[in-house]
Amino acid sequence: MTSPPLEVVIVGSGPAGLTAAIYCARANLEPLVFEGEPSSTGDQPGGQLMITTDVENYPGFPEGILGPDLMAAFRAQAARFGADLRTEKVSRVDFSRRPFRLWVGDGEAPAATAQAVIVSTGAQSLMLGLEAEERLMGRGLSTCATCDGFFFSGREIAVVGGGDSAMEEALFLTKFATKVTVIHRRDQLRASKIMQDRAFASDRIDFLWNHTVVDILGSDVLEGVRVRHTGNGAEQTLPLAGLFIAIGHRPNTDLFKDSLAMHPNGYLITEPGSTRTNIPGVFACGDVQDDVYRQAVTAAGSGCMAAIDAERWLEAQHDAGHR
Ligand code: NAP
Repeated sequence: MTSPPLEVVIVGSGPAGLTAAIYCARANLEPLVFEGEPSSTGDQPGGQLMITTDVENYPGFPEGILGPDLMAAFRAQAARFGADLRTEKVSRVDFSRRPFRLWVGDGEAPAATAQAVIVSTGAQSLMLGLEAEERLMGRGLSTCATCDGFFFSGREIAVVGGGDSAMEEALFLTKFATKVTVIHRRDQLRASKIMQDRAFASDRIDFLWNHTVVDILGSDVLEGVRVRHTGNGAEQTLPLAGLFIAIGHRPNTDLFKDSLAMHPNGYLITEPGSTRTNIPGVFACGDVQDDVYRQAVTAAGSGCMAAIDAERWLEAQHDAGHR
């Protein structure tokens, strides 16, 4: 006998998904959360904070908190109210009819069916693909100036990238660093004219054109980078306290490409001011639908919105006699 459909399934376990889980559980919706699986490098599910060290901008922690500790607290809070947390990765979804169906692995039978689904699969920063990135992430290497800029007061740092993100990060970092070198692989920026003008106008920003980062130096903390000229291949070492990688982000939306409406950049489309997607009963929250703010606290806030949207939608379905 197949189990009856659940009220809500949540896909993803970062701040958005686990906040949605806390709110859904406290609304007696008995949510099932597919947390994802540990990565090939052993990172546990829980989103981008799992690869962050100190988090100093999450409200409520005046002394700061380690990213993995913060996520463990989110998780414990969701579990305390009865959320069913499964360390499994959703491999396929069918949102074409209700109840919605979700599979894990290559199983034939769906792992769960649900009246409502909350998608909170997040996004990931694109990385350079260097071996040292994993070792030094959070130890001088960062993908978020808003989160980590403060740690580099009075130091010399660099930003990799030539787009709007790189300019935005570099400009923000001038509030702290004495010098910010933008390392770009071409001799022209991709960034919008206005962002370029602002960056060129800053006396704290230098540009290293036509260079790629070929190695990040330091065993426990970042000490510098090795860069190579794209034309003549000449290499040099830049001593640095920090490196910010700003070469773009990628939302984790492959799973939904045949079902949910997306912007051309792959982020899910939600109705303004809500978490509703194009499919009634499917909601999206956190970085998977936010390429602007990308903060743990905004993700958590939108997770709360998704839970409330789902709860109200389920109630309306019930009142209308659809269930
Ligand atoms: P982006 O526009 O795709 O720029 C990525 C930059 O990183 C490019 O300059 C690219 O170099 C470089 N890059 C990519 N892969 C690289 C690699 N492996 N090694 C070295 N460099 C690499 O990404 P984004 O800056 O994150 O912006 C994404 C979107 O958000 C854009 O539409 C942007 O306008 C928007 N955005 C807007 C604002 C704002 O208006 N304030 C702020 C942030 C983002 P090439 O140029 O050589 O390809």
